[in-house]
Amino acid sequence: MLQHDFNRMRLAGEDRTARGAACVPRMIGEKLRRAGLRPTRQRLALGWLLFGKGDRHLTAETLHAEASAARMNMSLATVYNTLHQFTEAGLLREVALFGSKAWYDTNTGPHYHYYVEENDELFDIPEAMLPQLNLPASPEGMIVAGVDVIIRLKKAADL
Ligand SMILES: [Zn+2]
Repeated sequence: MLQHDFNRMRLAGEDRTARGAACVPRMIGEKLRRAGLRPTRQRLALGWLLFGKGDRHLTAETLHAEASAARMNMSLATVYNTLHQFTEAGLLREVALFGSKAWYDTNTGPHYHYYVEENDELFDIPEAMLPQLNLPASPEGMIVAGVDVIIRLKKAADL
């Protein structure tokens, strides 16, 4: 609690001296609180990497490498746990790829993905190019909870 108050004071001070500089950390803190997560130092740090740069697709390993590069001293296990907590709280969407690691998407709304196998790269299919799916009727007593579409891409062979 004391640490939290200290961070708030520090952020308020930064806001006065560097106008707008504290907006992202404050926005992350509020995002965590709204999702029912206590804004601990680690959650704030990883939240800053995840949510401070627009929509992103990352694996735990990528995020851990970014955290290390930013001199945030935390283990891969901590990164995994935090990603899991963010996903449970609805802040991230997990995208499971067959034969690949779990990916985490900051865009939690319904959308589909391209996956480039040779580059291990995941990105959104643009809205204008969404496939029209003709879904079968759900079995009795069931409704569709979600539809995951991953279109795997590879370089076309040179002709
Ligand atoms: Zn996505």
